Amino acid sequence: MGHELAHAFDDQGRRYDKNGNLNQWWRPETVTKFNNLTQCMVDQYSSYKLQGEHINGKLTLGENIADNGGMKASFRAYLEWVKDNGEEPLLPGISLNHKQLFFLGFAQVWCSSITKEAAHLEIMKDSHVPGQFRVFGTLSNSYDFANAFNCSMGKAMNPKKKCQIW
Ligand SMILES: [Zn+2]
Repeated sequence: MGHELAHAFDDQGRRYDKNGNLNQWWRPETVTKFNNLTQCMVDQYSSYKLQGEHINGKLTLGENIADNGGMKASFRAYLEWVKDNGEEPLLPGISLNHKQLFFLGFAQVWCSSITKEAAHLEIMKDSHVPGQFRVFGTLSNSYDFANAFNCSMGKAMNPKKKCQIW
């Protein structure tokens, strides 16, 4: 749900006003700031490679904005839920806390198996990045994820440079 809502504020969705009409409703300086922030994400995802092929960070920008913004909003909504309802008991036999399970749940959605040919087609044509990059890209941009897993700054899943738009 967070992902779909964030589409309203991605590189395409932002162009539509509250009535759904194509209309430039942002101030020019806001558009400039947004474009600078999104370039970070274009560069980040373009640096990922699968089977020797680079991901197209421009083609996949809207989906990556939605993945990043949606995950952040969902985590905040979960924290609000905990405030109202209290912490649930920990799951037996799993040595992860609730925040860690939240991120594990996010990542497991994208577990998949794909043929080489389908992966090639996905890289060339799909506006979504392959599953492993939906996980890696989003979580490596997340301070909440790094805090939940106590990742040292500068490690692969907690790089110093993070792309943050929403
Ligand atoms: Zn989407």
